[in-house]
Amino acid sequence: PIYLDHLASTPLDPLVLDAMLPWFSPAAVGNPQAAHRPGWRAADAVEAARAEVAALIGAPPGAVLFTSGATEANTLALLGGTAPGAACLVSAVEHASVLGCLPELRRRGCPVTILPVESDGRLAPATLETALETAQHRPPGPALVSVMAANNEVGTLQPLAELAAVARARGALIHSDATQAAGGGGLSMDGLGLDFLSLSGHKLGGPMGIGALAARDGAALRPPSAGGGQQRGLRPGTLPTALCVGLGAACRLARDRAAEDSRRIAGLRERLWFLLSAALPRLRRNSPPDGLPGCLSVTLPGLDAADLLLGLPDLALSTGSACHSDAAEPSHVLLAMGRSVEEAHATLRFGLGRTTMAEEVERAAGLLIAAILAD
Ligand code: PMP
Repeated sequence: PIYLDHLASTPLDPLVLDAMLPWFSPAAVGNPQAAHRPGWRAADAVEAARAEVAALIGAPPGAVLFTSGATEANTLALLGGTAPGAACLVSAVEHASVLGCLPELRRRGCPVTILPVESDGRLAPATLETALETAQHRPPGPALVSVMAANNEVGTLQPLAELAAVARARGALIHSDATQAAGGGGLSMDGLGLDFLSLSGHKLGGPMGIGALAARDGAALRPPSAGGGQQRGLRPGTLPTALCVGLGAACRLARDRAAEDSRRIAGLRERLWFLLSAALPRLRRNSPPDGLPGCLSVTLPGLDAADLLLGLPDLALSTGSACHSDAAEPSHVLLAMGRSVEEAHATLRFGLGRTTMAEEVERAAGLLIAAILAD
């Protein structure tokens, strides 16, 4: 198979696997909470991993809460970070795990606003500014703004620094789902002035089942779970040492390799676009060149993208978004960018990553072009 679906999930990096393996062995017994030598060993490993996560995103280690992934991190930020009765504002292109929190917030009496985006998927700072002007007048707590760092369907990067500045100037808190952007490095939660940031292990060469929410010191978080008081009670539950170690190792690798990986992967993405667009002149590109290096979303008017991929099972890529690929729903991201339902169904999303080779890109392009032209 040719795997071009790195935005849905990345392969586990062999170095990450090496770092984790000892922690899966029976000798690595020990609850990180326990007050004995095996427990301390586990706790040390977990804390070293926490520091690696923090270093990747430019946050103090104490800010990082391990979660089961970005879905849980986003839920914790939205449901735990929106003060009772306070406004919550999110962009229209957020991941389902953010948008899915909105009905519960509405039930709690929190006024919810879904902010429209430009045709390239960016949330204009002026749009946020105007919305906050209205939301602001509604006490009792600060509004929470949630805007992703990079979109998982089209790769658009949000102007986070400007958006955070607008939010801060209006006294609002700001959360960013950085699941797709974190592996590319260069994020600084402190530098950007973010209150909350989410990420996920399996999107950056780490294991599935682990992620993190970083919460700025002092940012109020009302945890939905009760339990043993781990992680200051904000996200209680026994931590999986091996998975924490894996996430830490993945973050360390991302920090070391991000710049070089990003350059190489963006080069492959441009090669892919060149091959496809040369053979298919009506092909349109949804992904901006300055977006996520590994993301290429394209639309070919008239194409049934799902049908095409069914005929190419060894070519792993997505239509719209893998997260809802079994539903025939058109991508809410493309619709928010002004594309039609027909265009959404005629869209393919390629996700290139650290392990993608040039010849895979050439072969994938060849297979797709042949299948499309044969139709
Ligand atoms: N946010 C974004 C932007 C994503 O791409 C994903 C994964 N599709 C998630 C959140 C959810 O991450 P996880 O699989 O770790 O729950």
